[in-house]
Order: sequence, then structure tokens, then C-alpha cells
Amino acid sequence: MPQIIDGKAISMQIKDELKEEVARMHEVGINPCLAVIQVGADPASCVYVRNKKKACAYIGIESRAFELGEETTQEELIALIQKLNSDEGVHGILVQLPVPKHIDEDKIIQSIAPEKDVDGFHPVSVGNLCIGEKGFVSCTPAGIIQLLKRSDIKIEGKECVVIGRSNIVGKPMSILLLRENGTVTICHSRTKNLAEVTRRADILIVAIGKKQLITKEYVKDGAVVIDVGMHRDENNKLCGDVDFEDVSEIVSAITPVPGGVGPMTIAMLMNNCVEAARK
Ligand code: NAD
Repeated sequence: MPQIIDGKAISMQIKDELKEEVARMHEVGINPCLAVIQVGADPASCVYVRNKKKACAYIGIESRAFELGEETTQEELIALIQKLNSDEGVHGILVQLPVPKHIDEDKIIQSIAPEKDVDGFHPVSVGNLCIGEKGFVSCTPAGIIQLLKRSDIKIEGKECVVIGRSNIVGKPMSILLLRENGTVTICHSRTKNLAEVTRRADILIVAIGKKQLITKEYVKDGAVVIDVGMHRDENNKLCGDVDFEDVSEIVSAITPVPGGVGPMTIAMLMNNCVEAARK
């Protein structure tokens, strides 16, 4: 049986550490506060926003909710962000993505002050990550590094293969693994002979967005597999980009879906909020 990397337990551990730190902050008069902006009422976004507010409440972070109508203009949204940028009582600003189509997502991300960019999507945050400076890191890849470290899985010197090159997962993931001294290869939709490359991996990070695509043909014996994907199978049960049953037969460690990467994303968002208040 492989080691099942328990994201639920590890995320709880992180949230409890943050809860203690926030209690100490309260004692010296610092009240970490996250502004959560949602435009429209996309059902998946409503669930994500609700979970973020719940996590804030658990840790003791104040969350200020801004629920804007679908018809909100880009100018109105930017005006709100600018107001929050200069509000000293607000430490982090999060705009739940996606925003409605008439709003330019990049312009919104760029209007958030980098020191309040707790999602780590601002070009300044991404640039800092690339050159090894301090700054906020995209929550899902940051959470994966925590999963590996807290499961005693060494990254240094390992062959790390990331499938996916998105701005929020694949690219920052690759840079973080490089920062931990892994030897990193990035695969994507134009990669030839995907299985040939992925079978080199000691650590395989899968962020493709295709249901259960990765079977044991893509995986080396004894590898560590981290599954970022999130889908519903034919029985409406959550599943990932990896065929968990099939791949589990040969790996040394693997994340389940649900209960693997998913809970870590919110834990790292909370970590970034506390970090923003600490500064
Ligand atoms: P995306 O669609 O932006 O990127 C997918 C990447 O996979 C692209 O870079 C593409 O080049 C690559 N790709 C597509 N088909 C491929 C193929 N056949 N072979 C090799 N590469 C291929 O997706 P994303 O935002 O990076 O998310 C990936 C998955 O992770 C999705 O299922 C998403 O729902 C999930 N996700 C989960 C969390 C979480 O907190 N658990 C967070 C973000 C994303």
C-alpha cells in the first residue's frame, strides 16, 4: 500500500498553527482582515467563497464580504479594489475568479496592491517568485510544497515532472520545485511522448484538468504522485486527473481526491492573509 498523503490532516495542522498565531496578533492589537469580492453568483464560486469565509472564522481572521451584481462594471470593481488598497484595516484582497466576461481578469489582478495580493497572481508576486525574492505565492502550488515537506518527501535532487503550464498551478509549481532544488521538467498539451517523460519522474505533479487521464503507464514504480485535478465521475463522485486505483498499485505515495491538494489551497490562502497582516 502506498502512503496516502492526507491533505485534510495537514491543512488542519496548518490552520491550527495559524489560529495560535492570530490569537497572539489579537493580543497586540493586530486584527488580520481579508476582503473577499465576488461578482455575480456562479454556483462554484459561491461554494469557494463560503469555504474561504468559514476558514477565516475558524482561524480568527476577519472576512469582509463584497457581493456585487453580475452587471458590475470593470471601473466599479477597480474603484472598490482601490478603496480597499488604501484601507489600512484590510490586509488581503481576494477577487473570486472567474469574473463575468465583460471584465478583464488581468486588469483586475493588476489593480490589487502587491502587498495585499494574497492569491499571488499579481505580476509583481510572480516576478518575485521567479527571482527568489519574498512575496505571495499562488496557493495551490504553495500547498503542494507543504504536502511534500510535511510528509517527509525530499525534493532536492529529485526528477520532478509537472504536467500543466497554467499561470495558477503549473508554472508557479515548477518554479517552487526548482527553488527546492528539484530537477524540473514541464509537460503540456504539445508535449510529444508524454508517458516517456512522466515515467522519469520521482515526483509527478498532475494539473491537466482531464478526468483520470494518468494511469500507471505514465508513472515510474515507486514515484510520488500529486493530483491537482478536480472532477465529477459518472456517479457524481469527486475524482482527479489521476486514475487513483490504477496508479496506487505502483507508487510510493499519492494524494487522494478529495482530501489531497484541495484542502491545502485554502490553508495556504489563510497563511498568506496572516503573512500580509504580519508585515
Ligand atoms: P488549465 O486548464 O489552465 O491548464 C491545464 C494544463 O494542462 C495546460 O497547461 C495544458 O497545456 C495541459 N494539458 C492539457 N491537456 C494535456 C494533455 N493531454 N497532455 C499534457 N498536458 C495537457 O488548468 P489549471 O487551472 O492548471 O487546473 C488543472 C486542474 O487542477 C483542473 O482540474 C482544476 O480544476 C484543478 N485545480 C484544482 C485546484 C485545487 O485547489 N485542488 C486549484 C486549481 C486547479
